[in-house]
Amino acid sequence: MRIDVMGVGFDNVTMAQAVEKAALLLEGETAAYCVTPNAEIVYTAMQDESFRQLLNHADLVLPDGAGVVLASKILKTPLKEKVAGVDFSAQLLRLMEQTGKRLYLLGGKPGVGELAAEKMLEKHPDLQICGIADGYFKEEAPVVEKINEAKADVVFVCLGAPKQEKFMQAHQSELRVKLMLGLGGTLDTYAGTVKRAPKFFIKLYLEWFYRLLKEPKRLKRVLCLPKFIFAAYMKKIRG
Ligand code: UDP
Repeated sequence: MRIDVMGVGFDNVTMAQAVEKAALLLEGETAAYCVTPNAEIVYTAMQDESFRQLLNHADLVLPDGAGVVLASKILKTPLKEKVAGVDFSAQLLRLMEQTGKRLYLLGGKPGVGELAAEKMLEKHPDLQICGIADGYFKEEAPVVEKINEAKADVVFVCLGAPKQEKFMQAHQSELRVKLMLGLGGTLDTYAGTVKRAPKFFIKLYLEWFYRLLKEPKRLKRVLCLPKFIFAAYMKKIRG
């Protein structure tokens, strides 16, 4: 069952249940796609019908941020927990290593995918990374061809929103993969080019604040969070 949070339907799952669902999708016949919207992405989708549809058509919709979970509580339809894209991807790396699935890394600046792959392999030496491409391409068709040639099962699509969601839906029928995941800046986190907030910040739901301290140019993006929460309160009050 999905829970509507300001127009986006989220799968109401724990991390473990999300991984189970991904494992099922990996056994499917067609290319499924998973999105991980945070408050900023849902706020954008509130004003953009076609983007909202891209999110709602995904096979798995996971709440990437504490803001989304908070809004679900305000709306009295609480989601079980935050399932951050980066944590989810870490669980999938383990699953892919155990099941011999092939992973393709798409996105980030040139060199970031290679660095991320190195770090992934340090932790998961049997993981099969079958291809890497940066996210600054002019045409999409050659990228799709390369992913198909690599015989990937899973693609981490890390192009930022809404580019990654558009890419996944546009090529869903041509891509001979099992599962694509839109994961934003996740490859930067693996590569170490962007540091994840210390546990203290994550625990206090202040990951966004840490990110803002590190990258003040994100202020405009971060300001979506209070606007989004305010909109959730307004929706609740208006019924
Ligand atoms: N990116 C990309 N191609 C583009 C635009 C962005 O590969 O045309 C990458 C960018 O290098 C970064 C990620 O997409 O690694 C987006 O990061 P962002 O901080 O927006 O994502 P978030 O962590 O907020 O989901």
